[in-house]
Formats: sequence, structure tokens, C-alpha cells
Amino acid sequence: MIYTPEKYSIPDKRMKPFIAPDEIWNFIKNTKTDKHRVRDVISAALDKKRLSLEETAVLINANEPELIEEIKEGAKKLKVKIYGDRIVLFAPLYVGNLCTNNCAYCGFKATNKDVERKTLEKDELIRETKALLNSGHKRLIMVYGEHPRYSPEFIAETVETVYRVKDKNGEIRRVNINAAPFDVEGFRKIRQARIGTYQIFQETYHPETYDKVHMSGVKKNFEWRLTALDRAQEAGLDDVGLGVLLGLYDWRYELLGLVRHVNHFEATYHVGPHTISFPRIKNATRLDIDKNYNVNDRDFLRMIAVLRLAVPYTGLILTAREPAHVRDEILSYGVSQIDGGTKIEMGAYSENSNKPQDLKKEQFQINDNRSLAEIMDELISNDYIPSFCTACYRLGRTGEHFMEFSVPGFIKRFCTPNALLTLAEYLEDYADDKTKDKGYALIEKKIAEIEAANHKTEKLIEKINLVKKGKRDLYF
Ligand code: SAM
Ligand code: SF4
Repeated sequence: MIYTPEKYSIPDKRMKPFIAPDEIWNFIKNTKTDKHRVRDVISAALDKKRLSLEETAVLINANEPELIEEIKEGAKKLKVKIYGDRIVLFAPLYVGNLCTNNCAYCGFKATNKDVERKTLEKDELIRETKALLNSGHKRLIMVYGEHPRYSPEFIAETVETVYRVKDKNGEIRRVNINAAPFDVEGFRKIRQARIGTYQIFQETYHPETYDKVHMSGVKKNFEWRLTALDRAQEAGLDDVGLGVLLGLYDWRYELLGLVRHVNHFEATYHVGPHTISFPRIKNATRLDIDKNYNVNDRDFLRMIAVLRLAVPYTGLILTAREPAHVRDEILSYGVSQIDGGTKIEMGAYSENSNKPQDLKKEQFQINDNRSLAEIMDELISNDYIPSFCTACYRLGRTGEHFMEFSVPGFIKRFCTPNALLTLAEYLEDYADDKTKDKGYALIEKKIAEIEAANHKTEKLIEKINLVKKGKRDLYF
């Protein structure tokens, strides 16, 4: 099999597959661990070092309860040290569910005749966008099935449509996309629409499992998908998001697969991915997956803590697939982005009803049905700063996670003030009185903390006052 190199470690080359299952299993099976090694690896991560496959395997193999606790504590420390208390909010916007692939786990698979197919028309897309921006959103991820209709031109056009929608003070300032992989030319066209992050999940880094669960369609080609982000990179789309779908194969293997993908990126393009996602499989119509690799809550938390330590400067995303209590707990391990007020039925945002989910129209079951307003209120009450910031991306400061991490004081000088400014905008335009009071109390508290760390706050206070007077879109 082509994925088995003679002497582990496939060299990293542009546009070439880089996953060797034997190499990954070798790390899992043969890496020794003990409390000293675990502590050394945790302190390397806290010193802002991206972990090697071997170091990650030391953490993966630490099975004793007290070591698992130390790893979780390490992840919490890293989160506080590196990311502070900001949580970026976004919403998914499903544009169309036509699909020519047959992914065993997905409700949109081509053979599923029970699902209702729909692609939003332009006026529907505008209505959905208005509903989203009128709830306070500024950042979206637009989602598409894999189908000839969803060409690069179609994707670019839908993204541009969304960017053009304005209503009162509302506008979408950053559109990320999750769509099928294209060739380099296709990615170039998409790039012209000013997308933020291009996100695509490998689903599983295990080729045999991949082949089994992708029954037909273009997506069956493991290597085409694995090298998708290389092609994006060649096309100048250097802001990318990786992911695995947990429940298809052993989580320990998938975790090392993600780290291997990050290594490949760093070795080849000298840049890391912007984000990593790790959805767990949820119920869907015609779900056809055996349950052997289901990841329970305990292992899920543990996996995220290891991942946090392994890739300290990559944003971690956790979606409304997970119930509120799991999401709330995981925030403290370093998740940096969550969705809020999520609806995944096409057209549902503008219907504005609280009807139960209808899996015949949706890709999978979501389990956190809180509105954006509820999530904002809860984040503020728990001392997190909800952020809609898009400053780095719009100022061309790409690789912001890396900057947050490597430029001393960057978070205090840029990220926290920008988060507070977008929070003030939200409080002025969309919050009820109770949330507004709590929100401004939080802003004052955070400004005092910035001052206590010897950073100037005059300009920030000035800008917050301008927001109160009606100015929008101010940032550093
Ligand atoms: N068609 C594009 C693709 O396959 O890349 C768009 C992806 S899909 C709309 C977004 C992601 O949802 C998939 O990559 C997969 O990881 C995830 N997904 C699919 N079925 C799921 C399920 N039953 N539960 C949870 N996540 C699921
Ligand atoms: Fe289609 Fe994507 Fe669903 Fe696979 S995961 S069936 S490619 S929408």
C-alpha cells in the first residue's frame, strides 16, 4: 500500500500526500510515558512550543487519572496564558445540500432519498443574511454540498451576495467557507470573493476507513482531499481550517493525524492552519456508521486538552453539534470559537420560529439550541469576552493566531481591545437592557485589567465612547 513508507516519515513536499498510518501507529504503540515525561511535555507546550508527534503521543498514552488531570490543567493554563478570555462567535449558513457523494455519516448523501434537497435562491440568501445580522452576527461560515452546481463561480457569487447585505448597523464582515475541494484554478476564483478561512475536514486520516465510509463520488479519493489545502495554498488561500470527524476511527490516531497535517503545513509552507475542528458524529437520516469508534465525553475532553497543548497557536472550534453543558465545560480547555443561535435547515434563520429540528431537511442533529442572545448573556456572566472581531483579516494581518502567540503584548494591545469594541457594538445594537448592563460592567472590568498590566487604554476608551455615540466598525 502506498501509504507505508519503508522507513517512517514521508518527506513533506508540496501537493504530495504525507500520511503514513504505520508511522502514526508506531508512535501510539511505542511511545513510553511517565509522569516526568508528561510534565516535561506540558511545560514545553506552555513555553509556546508546538509539540512533535512523539511528544503528543506521550500525552495521548498517559492513561492514569492524575496524569489526565495534569494534562487538562495544562490545557487550561495554556488557554489563560495564550488566549485570555475571548471567545469568537460565528454562525453557519447552509447554502445548498445537493451532493454527489455518498458519505456514510451524512444526511445529505446522494443515495438518501428521504432528505429534501434545496439550494437558496439569491433573495432567500439575502433574507437569511439579514436575519443573521439582525441577531448580531458579523462572522459566518457558508456551507455547501459537493455538486457541479456549487462551482467556484457559484460559491464566489454567493459569498459576494452576503457581503453586500446591509441592514441598519448590521453587516457581515467575514465569510468563511466549508466546501468541496477544488483545483488550484478553482481556489483562485474563490479567493477573489475575499473569503476568510477555507475550511475542509479530512474526516479520517486512516485511508482504509476513509475508503469504507466514502462509498462513491469524488470525495472517495483520499489523496485529492488530503492535498486540498495544499492546492488552496498554491492559489494564495493561506488561511485554512482542518478537521476530523470523530467516531469513524480511533481518536488517538486521528489526533496524531491532525498534528501530522499541521507539521506538513509548517514544513512546506511555513504557516500553520488557522483553525482545527473535531466534530463528533451526530444522528442523521440514513446514518450508516458502526459505533465501535464512538468517542465518549471523557475521551472527548481528554482529546481536546491534548490537542490544545499540541498546537498552541491554532484556534479550536466547537460547534452546536455538542450540548450546552459539554460546550461550556470545554471552553475552559482552550476552544476559541463557537457558533451561536445555530440553525442548519436552509431558510430557517429568516423563518424565526422555534420549531423542532426536522432531520429530513438537515445534515445532522444539533444539540445546543440556545439563541445568540442567550449565549452572549451566558458568556458575559461567566467573564468571557464574546468577540466578533475581524480586524486582523481586514488589515491583512494574516496568521493572527501566530501573532497573538509570538508578538509580546499583542493580545492586550489588539485582540482584547478589538473584542471589547465589537462587544460594545453588540450591546448597543442587539442586546436587551439586562445583558447591556452586564456587558458594560464587563468592559469596564477588562479595561481595568489592561491598565493593571501597564498598557494604555485612552484610545480604547475613546473608541468605546464613539461606539456609544453611533460610530461602528472601529478597531486597532
Ligand atoms: N460537502 C462538504 C464536505 O463534505 O466537505 C461540506 C461539508 S459538511 C456540510 C461539513 C462537515 O460536517 C463534514 O465535513 C463532516 O465532517 C460533518 N458531518 C457530516 N455528517 C455529520 C454528522 N452526522 N454528524 C456530525 N458532523 C457531520
Ligand atoms: Fe456531501 Fe459533504 Fe455530506 Fe459528504 S459530508 S454527503 S460530501 S455534504
